[in-house]
Amino acid sequence: MTEKTAEDWMKEALHEARMAYLIGEVPIGAVIVHDGEIIGRGHNLREHGQDATLHAEMMAIQEACEALHSWRLEGCQLYVTLEPCLMCSGAIINARIPEVFYGARDPKAGAVRSLYEVLEDSRLNHRVTVHERVLARPAGEMLENFFRDIRKRQKAAKRARKQAAEKN
Ligand SMILES: [Zn+2]
Repeated sequence: MTEKTAEDWMKEALHEARMAYLIGEVPIGAVIVHDGEIIGRGHNLREHGQDATLHAEMMAIQEACEALHSWRLEGCQLYVTLEPCLMCSGAIINARIPEVFYGARDPKAGAVRSLYEVLEDSRLNHRVTVHERVLARPAGEMLENFFRDIRKRQKAAKRARKQAAEKN
C-alpha cells in the first residue's frame, strides 16, 4: 500500500463536510490520523444538536481521545476543511495535537492565521505545526454553494410570502 498524502486525508475531511451539507449544516468536516489510520471523525452538527460546541474538530478530538484512551493526542495529525475557530484551536492545544492541516481560511472566525495565531503563540507551552490551504478550493466552494443555496431559499420564501400577501 502506498503512503497516503495530506490531500488524501483532506479528502476524508471533505467527505465529512459533505455529510454536514446533506443534512443542512454548515459544511465543515475533520478527521484525525494516527499511525496512518483515521481514529476520529466529525462534522459540524451545531443545528441538529443545538449545541455551540459541536464543531467538526471537537467531535473528531473526542472520538480520537476515546480511541487512544488518552487526552493527549501525541503523534496525531488533524485535518479540517476550514481554519479552526478559537474554541477548536484551544481544544487542539489542550489535546497536544502536534500537526494541523486545514483547507480554506475563515476571515470571520479563524484563530490560526486570520484573526489570531493561537496555534503558534510562543506564550503557550504547546506549539503546533500548521499547514494551510490544503485542498482549500473544494472546501471553500462547498461553503459558498451552501450559503448560496440558503440565500436562494430565503429569496424564494420571501417571494412566496409577498405573492400570498398580494392575493389577500
Ligand atoms: Zn470550531
